[in-house]
Order: sequence, then structure tokens, then C-alpha cells
Amino acid sequence: MDKIAVFPGSFDPITKGHESIIKRAIPLFDKLYLAIGINAEKKSFFPVNQRKKWLEEVFKEYSNIQVTHFEGLTVNYCKKVNAKYILRGLRTSADFEFERSIGQVNKKIYPEIETVFLLTTPEYTAVNSSIVRDILKHGGDVSQFVPGAIRIP
Ligand code: ADP
Repeated sequence: MDKIAVFPGSFDPITKGHESIIKRAIPLFDKLYLAIGINAEKKSFFPVNQRKKWLEEVFKEYSNIQVTHFEGLTVNYCKKVNAKYILRGLRTSADFEFERSIGQVNKKIYPEIETVFLLTTPEYTAVNSSIVRDILKHGGDVSQFVPGAIRIP
């Protein structure tokens, strides 16, 4: 049976931290959905289509990666695409506390699901989308924090 995983996130925008986790996860799964979660109550910085285009550009040479988006519960999306694994990255103990409750609740709702965590590589621990957005808001250069394959304004 194919191992299908969903990596849910905002990717607003994709960073080198995301890129690193995704590349390390590629050998672990037969298919990996990079799924942008859309939350109608949370305003995003970049439109979903733009975020998708960047993800597609960065992973264009990987045929087992598919870029998508979804609304609603992540586990419902996993059921829809027949995924039994959710991929998440762990940077800090705060990430762990946050992810633990979500992972445990997801398992209650959908017992077949397993959440797989990859630890961030030390050089990317401090990289996150919200810092990238802050730098952009103030006209700074974010090129060292985002994948080399794309340019963010
Ligand atoms: P969300 O709003 O769902 O947390 P993000 O796009 O911020 O969406 O993050 C998606 C996933 O990527 C999360 O599991 C997060 O921990 C992981 N991630 C984000 N930045 C990094 C990083 N620098 N190193 C490792 N994992 C990361």
C-alpha cells in the first residue's frame, strides 16, 4: 500500500525551513501533498494562488509531490486523499506542546492517522514565515530565508 502523507501549513510564504523538512520527508513517503490550509477567519499575507505557485516552483522536479489547498479539518482532507500520515516540523518545545495536542486530537478523530514529526536542522530553527513577513513589511531582503528557486518581492 502506498504511503501517502499530507504536510499541512500556511506556507505564507514558504521558507527554507519548510523546504528542508519537505526534502527530508520525500524518501519517507510515496506521495506527499503540500496542502495549504485555508482559514476563512485568518487573513493571509499572500493569496493562496501565489503561495501555491511558489511551492510548485520549488518542488517542480519531484513527481511525488502535489501542491493543493483545503478548507476545514486536516484529518478530513487526509481521508479525502487517502493519506494515513500527517507531516509536521518541530523547531522548539513550544512547537512540541502545540503539536502534541493537535496530534492527539487528530488521532482521536481519525484513529488510522499517524503524525510524523521531523526535527528542524539547527540552522533553520529561527526561520519562520512570520519573521519573513515582518522583514517584507519593512522593505527588507528575505532572500537568505526563502528557497533559492524563488524570489519573493
Ligand atoms: P502552520 O500555520 O500550520 O503552523 P506553517 O506554514 O507556519 O503553518 O508551518 C507548517 C509546518 O512547517 C509546521 O509543522 C511547522 O512546524 C513547520 N515549520 C515551519 N518553519 C519551520 C522551520 N524553520 N523548520 C522546521 N519546520 C518548520
